[in-house]
Amino acid sequence: MKPQKFTAAVVGGGPAGIASALALGRAGLDVVLAAPPHRPLGLASDTRTAALFAGSIELLKNVGAWEALAPDSAPIEAIRIVDDTGGLLRAPEVVFTASEVGRDAFGWNVPNDRLVAALRAAAAAPESRVSLHETAGIAKVEIGNTAARLTSQEEAEFEARLVVGADGRNSICRAAAGIGTRSWRYEQAALIATFHHGRPHHGISTEFHRPAGPFTTVPLPGLCSSLVWVERPEEARRLLALDEVAFRRTLEERLQGLLGGIGEIGSRAMFPLSGLTAETFGRSRVALVGEAGHVIPPIGAQGLNLGLRDAATLADCVAAALAEGHDPGGAETLDAYSRRRRPDVAARVATVDVLNRSLLSGFLPVHLARGLGLVALKSFGPLRRLAVQEGLQPSSDVPALLMPDGARLLAERARAGRKGNAA
Ligand SMILES: Cc1cc2nc3c(=O)[nH]c(=O)nc-3n(C[C@H](O)[C@H](O)[C@H](O)COP(=O)(O)OP(=O)(O)OC[C@H]3O[C@@H](n4cnc5c(N)ncnc54)[C@H](O)[C@@H]3O)c2cc1C
Repeated sequence: MKPQKFTAAVVGGGPAGIASALALGRAGLDVVLAAPPHRPLGLASDTRTAALFAGSIELLKNVGAWEALAPDSAPIEAIRIVDDTGGLLRAPEVVFTASEVGRDAFGWNVPNDRLVAALRAAAAAPESRVSLHETAGIAKVEIGNTAARLTSQEEAEFEARLVVGADGRNSICRAAAGIGTRSWRYEQAALIATFHHGRPHHGISTEFHRPAGPFTTVPLPGLCSSLVWVERPEEARRLLALDEVAFRRTLEERLQGLLGGIGEIGSRAMFPLSGLTAETFGRSRVALVGEAGHVIPPIGAQGLNLGLRDAATLADCVAAALAEGHDPGGAETLDAYSRRRRPDVAARVATVDVLNRSLLSGFLPVHLARGLGLVALKSFGPLRRLAVQEGLQPSSDVPALLMPDGARLLAERARAGRKGNAA
């Protein structure tokens, strides 16, 4: 049987992969999305939520996924950081409000399973240019001079000029392109759950900085929040094994009455913390997006925000390639993509790593530096505004799909290219 031909093939059905397929469709490419079947809502295996910053929300609007998702998501209007390290030098409590940087909200907290469902629904719309191919997995990726060939476990075959590796941290696309990685582990694990509580959160996400790692609550709609509790692995395992009554009591103690009495608690899950970066984000017809290219610990809500910026930047680079008559999966396009993503990814990986290690360190000067950093942020208006803005999204090199009305902008650029090429 002849392989089905597409301009781009996206491998992976996580949020970064589906968003990439939609973004490339908006740039005018015909795309096949090879993804495992999505479990029905309620049976979904991913019970995490993701705090997504304003740029990521613009992307979701631009690809037609936000409207369905908004009712299940909650705005994050302020971020409170509490020093709970118990050290000699207790840093001041710092509250950043979105209004300081002229926004209503820093971003929104979004349930991952709803996000995937909303993105899949957007991909099913005829105007998306995305063909969904449900598969147990892509088994083989072969890179050729002018195209790559993909074979699924069911032996369906596809040919594409650009392959998007959105197949997570053990990416076979990355391996096929011969892209090496640097990876590391932390002696920590994140325990996650959603829970109901008696007092309103007022749109505030609270981060307790503790010696084993941060303990963070993030608002959900109503009297409900999500929890990301970073601990030493053995303690995380103990917390995971507690019965609901004992876990509720422990959570109430830890929250010090901040959200009132704790009600129903959703299912808990544990994620060992690790890090990974790829040596390049594009080579040999393969562009890496999301965790195929970078994994960072869930501190400061950076991981998926980076993945969505990958998707938007790749669409920009492909639109530019079309405008100049270049191959969308060629070396020029992939080099441009990798060059644009490197500073953002490197900065987030380094910041999250330093912050995390500063909490774990028992070394007094490290605590002093962290404490002074927080004092400076608390005191100096411009520094604080800069820190908040840069934490949300780099202020330079913003791709079209992260801006309001970005879908129109991107489509115009790509259309101009196609007209020029046809002439
Ligand atoms: C506890 C925790 C909290 C977090 N909180 C936040 C947050 O608040 N904000 C934030 O921005 N980020 C957060 N993150 C990070 C975020 O969850 C990840 O960045 C995101 O889920 C990664 O999405 P992805 O699409 O890259 O990868 P994945 O979700 O891992 O998707 C990979 C997909 O590829 C598929 N796949 C794998 N191999 C193949 C194959 N051979 N063929 C076909 N398909 C394949 C898999 O089945 C899967 O569908 C958090 C992470 C953790 C652990």
